[in-house]
Amino acid sequence: MTQSTVKQNLKILVINCGSSSIKYQLFDMRERSVLAAGLLEQIGEARSRLTQRTRSRKGGMRATAKTQTVGGHRQGLALIGRVMADTGALGSFTELYGIGHRVVHGGEAFRAPVIIDRGVMDAIRRMAALAPLHNPANLVGIEVAREHAPQVPQVAVFDTAFHQTLPPHAFHYGLPRGLYRRHHVRRYGFHGTSHAYVTRQAAAHLQRPPDAVNLITLHLGNGASAAAVKNGRSVDTSMGMTPLEGLIMGTRCGDLDPAIIFYLGRETGQPAGEIEALLNRESGLKGICGVNDMRDILQRAEGGDAAARLAIDMYTYRIRKYIGAYTAVLGRVDALVFTAGIGEHAADIRRRCCRGLAHLGIVLDEDENSRRGAGIREVQAAHSKVRILVIPTDEELEIAEQTLKQIRDDAQTAF
Ligand code: AMP
Repeated sequence: MTQSTVKQNLKILVINCGSSSIKYQLFDMRERSVLAAGLLEQIGEARSRLTQRTRSRKGGMRATAKTQTVGGHRQGLALIGRVMADTGALGSFTELYGIGHRVVHGGEAFRAPVIIDRGVMDAIRRMAALAPLHNPANLVGIEVAREHAPQVPQVAVFDTAFHQTLPPHAFHYGLPRGLYRRHHVRRYGFHGTSHAYVTRQAAAHLQRPPDAVNLITLHLGNGASAAAVKNGRSVDTSMGMTPLEGLIMGTRCGDLDPAIIFYLGRETGQPAGEIEALLNRESGLKGICGVNDMRDILQRAEGGDAAARLAIDMYTYRIRKYIGAYTAVLGRVDALVFTAGIGEHAADIRRRCCRGLAHLGIVLDEDENSRRGAGIREVQAAHSKVRILVIPTDEELEIAEQTLKQIRDDAQTAF
């Protein structure tokens, strides 16, 4: 590719492919702007629904919605291509500079994003046992994108990669070592794209090189995880071999005595698969108070609902425990970072997460914390030793950045 074409075209499509959905964002990486963002849902059902927001010439976003039968992902990506062409976002897939795919599990094979080839696809397939709900769907996304745009370089960006720097004493479980060697049982950690993105953003905000910051990053969305970041590298994280471990989440239980699972099996006669579904989909905030959306929970708690109050107390207590643990792990903490839906928007949850942590040097300024605003915000009190940052995460932009970097690096090494 010549320099001039590189300059003209830096459109990168980011694809997050689920078992019955395709989420996508089209970026113009010359200005890091979003040209279109969409979601195709209920693939394989009678009425699949595509919604897309497209940037207009004047800079605003225009909404498009379509409902029709979409039999499979191949047809789904073709429909996305047509809608992007009709809305003027992208003439055809061949115009793309690159495609970036979110891949949930990279196991120990991937410490960084990679250009996708057959070998990479085989490795993602081999990792399917570790992420049976996600990796096969991610792979389908890669296969259909390669069919639709065979000439366009494609990059896999793994949710686990950022945490591949965990030392052995943090990633091993107290289990027979043979299980690690034979069955790859260890902590991998997830949300790595988000933890990596906010780490870079925090370092830039603190005007430090990324490899010189110590952070506790809290990704609090419907899924939630904490990471201890030392000198810019993840040294511990709350999610484990799967995303089930750690913090209390929307519908996942987080940390649990493993003996509960066997006890439940004996007491209820439920098969293992049902208990697994219970822990993943019926537990966490939903299990405690009946709903998993934090906005609803805060509203119910405000109205005096005891279960909602308990859910909030449990949720924030678990986070405080991790802050304490990761302070011990890191020694010096430069900043505590809140991100994702709850971390960015729920001021009351941030307040409760920081409550009683003055002895760790963490003191929130309640007025700053309650103020709304865009971009990165500092919400610590003047005398707080640890800075407290609210940083909007952008996993799609991070995937697009990584995709651009990999394609450029690959072009460099080709010379
Ligand atoms: P995410 O997975 O990052 O999209 O985050 C989803 C979670 O963020 C849900 O529990 C939402 O209820 C929560 N959330 C989003 N906006 C707010 C808000 N303004 N206040 C409280 N929680 C919010």
